Amino acid sequence: MKPEPEAVDLLIRGGLVVTMDPARAVLPAADVAVQGERIVALGGSLGCAARQVIDARDRAVLPGLVNAHTHETLTRGLAEDLPLERWLAEICFPLDRAYTAEIMRAAALMNQLEMIRGGITTFLDIYRFPAVCAEVAERSGLRAIFAPQIIDDAEGAGETIESAEAFVAEWRGRNSRILPAFGPHAPYSCGPETYRRIGELARRYDVPIHTHLAETRWELETIAQRYGTTPARHLERLGLLDSRLSVAHGTYLEPDEIELLRERDVAVVHNPTSNMKLASGVAPVSAWLAAGLRVGLGTDSNLSNNNLDLFEEMRLAALLQKLSRGDAAALPCFDALALATTGGARALGLGAATGSIEVGKQADLILIDLNQPHLWPLFDGGRANIAEQLVYSAGAADVSHTIVAGQVLMAQRQVLTLELDAVRAAVAEAGTRLLERAGIEAAARP
Ligand SMILES: [Zn+2]
Repeated sequence: MKPEPEAVDLLIRGGLVVTMDPARAVLPAADVAVQGERIVALGGSLGCAARQVIDARDRAVLPGLVNAHTHETLTRGLAEDLPLERWLAEICFPLDRAYTAEIMRAAALMNQLEMIRGGITTFLDIYRFPAVCAEVAERSGLRAIFAPQIIDDAEGAGETIESAEAFVAEWRGRNSRILPAFGPHAPYSCGPETYRRIGELARRYDVPIHTHLAETRWELETIAQRYGTTPARHLERLGLLDSRLSVAHGTYLEPDEIELLRERDVAVVHNPTSNMKLASGVAPVSAWLAAGLRVGLGTDSNLSNNNLDLFEEMRLAALLQKLSRGDAAALPCFDALALATTGGARALGLGAATGSIEVGKQADLILIDLNQPHLWPLFDGGRANIAEQLVYSAGAADVSHTIVAGQVLMAQRQVLTLELDAVRAAVAEAGTRLLERAGIEAAARP
């Protein structure tokens, strides 16, 4: 007698599965079986019993998206359209200093709720009060890396080396979904000694480092004046360039620096909306990919985006390369989709765990509702053009289900781990308090 096959924990049945595996296989009407945290089987009509079944007919099943650079800030939509220097001096820095743990908790709740609803399953947050944000992630169910944002500023616009080290020591090995890292803000806001000490600490604790690099022309000029070199060469001198490091922006990386980063296996994270909104410039993403760099995609903070919609970032990444290179073939859509999935996972050092739908990997999965006219038509059951529809037509609001490590965080657009009304109330209260503390008036327009 054949033994009954054991029931799996979760079966996602009959979906159009966009695996993002090395062959970039797209499987129409396929099942994904999940046991515990992992994908255990994948293919047409698996026919296994399951404790929970999600009907995925009329849905695409994707690897969860990876937001490889964000700051969980609270005050989007305030003081928009200012010149960058005024915006930083009058808005951003006073706000950074005014956060408390309680205000940060509300910000983390809002950001993580939005990311779950937009199909982001993994994110890197470089900002303040990391332990508070990590506690929110324990509850939200998202996979996250928290890099306390260290700034050399006696007035406390950021975290310090001491507070960051305490966080790393406390959270290393505590929760397999939540990883600590070091986050020196940028070469112009952290001195050489700060970077050197962070390099030593990251090696000692065996954790990643995330920093902003070569973002604007102003940064290039400032670093040239102070150190007589470029931001990337400056970090090379300080011994920071290795596979532990991921850098955000890289807008002004020169060809020889791209080669240097590839040799040292440094990852780069592209933030197209932020680069446009802050008038920073167009990053040479096609050149990074051609050189073989690990490249991820980020939203940056809600101050410079303003939403956390990685579908929008995929689309803008593709459009910006085409426009700036005068080449409509630049950054084709499967490559754009890879930036937000496998690319982001690899950029954050999580490529073996997440970023694609493959047996043995973490069950970080999202479902897209295909029963909507802006995603039609699909040819050959979707095999012919699903990536095109996802990159050029889809948006965060099309995500119906979000699953991380086998746990369903959102079903039919209802978030199960965080409570929408409670988060909205906390955000309203914390927002008012933050502006008061920062001395910023949200005045109505005359
Ligand atoms: Zn940033």
